[in-house]
Amino acid sequence: MAYPHGELLRSPSVWQPVSAEEAWRLKREIGTGASFVAGGTLLRTQWEAGLAPYPAHMIDLTGVAELSGCGPVDEEDGGWRIGAITTLAQCRSHAGLFAAYPLIMEAARTIAAPAVRNLATIGGNALSRTGDMATALLALDSELLWQNDAGTVLEPLSDWLDRERAGLSGAPGLLIAILLPAACRMPITPNARRRCAFHKVGRREAFIPPVVNVALNVELDGDGAVADIRISAGGGTMIPARLAAAEALVRGRLPDAALLEELHAVVMGEYAPMPDPLVGEDYRRMTAANLAAAALWQASGAGGRGPGEGEKPCC
Ligand SMILES: Cc1cc2nc3c(=O)[nH]c(=O)nc-3n(C[C@H](O)[C@H](O)[C@H](O)COP(=O)(O)OP(=O)(O)OC[C@H]3O[C@@H](n4cnc5c(N)ncnc54)[C@H](O)[C@@H]3O)c2cc1C
Repeated sequence: MAYPHGELLRSPSVWQPVSAEEAWRLKREIGTGASFVAGGTLLRTQWEAGLAPYPAHMIDLTGVAELSGCGPVDEEDGGWRIGAITTLAQCRSHAGLFAAYPLIMEAARTIAAPAVRNLATIGGNALSRTGDMATALLALDSELLWQNDAGTVLEPLSDWLDRERAGLSGAPGLLIAILLPAACRMPITPNARRRCAFHKVGRREAFIPPVVNVALNVELDGDGAVADIRISAGGGTMIPARLAAAEALVRGRLPDAALLEELHAVVMGEYAPMPDPLVGEDYRRMTAANLAAAALWQASGAGGRGPGEGEKPCC
């Protein structure tokens, strides 16, 4: 498709709602001619490449109060809520979030360059379906809080991604926030050890979407065996997915060299990348298997990160 000069020269109407209910009402009333805009970093590349139509109406989400803020849901619940317009830079520098869910910062620091991260939002990344953050959020059992005609609706991220994989939907509303469960928060119990790792390989070292990414979130028991684990993987145009067979393989076992070899073989079979004219399927399967084995090795204590270990939050 040709670069849409004519469309870009036409000024869109910009709407600036202040509540989630107003934002959703605008979208419903204007219909397909309207687009929610958060940081605009992904949309801009899609408009310029002709991959998405330049909308006649932009609904600017940056003034919607319910979409901002990042912190514990409440003392009893123990989980966290991240507003959809929280920027990736804020995710990267939030000390409390890092202490509770370091995987978020691990993923945020691999995405784009600082100038993009200052605008790009966690909601926009998750809803891009193929973003690095979607892979990390999947390994944290995240839930999406939508505003739509039914009011506010909570849905597991994995369910929404499954529907996207089946080609069924698009976003079913305005994303208000992402909820992270207490079960994935660290530390879990005094005798347990929770570790996480996020690995990404791109066509160059930095500032580039992933060819393959892998997120791992594991709890080790007192003997160092895997008590609980979530592994997700994505990359390219693949919608990220949990690696259920790999998780089942390692659960209850010590992450020794023999297990890492078995894990490598299972991920080679289970990881299912989308065709890419520039990167071969075998290479991507091998890379995903290498990253998963490395992540488990790292998490087993050879380099795993928890609060106070490895990198500190930064701006
Ligand atoms: C130079 C560059 C490098 C990049 N590198 C990476 C990278 O390494 N990894 C990576 O994952 N991405 C990368 N990206 C893509 C992009 O920056 C991220 O995906 C970003 O997080 C998108 O967030 P945003 O707020 O800019 O989304 P926007 O562009 O504003 O929106 C993206 C989509 O989500 C919808 N949307 C946004 N917020 C909501 C909401 N609250 N409710 C409903 N719909 C919503 C929009 O309508 C749109 O369809 C890169 C982009 C650039 C320009």
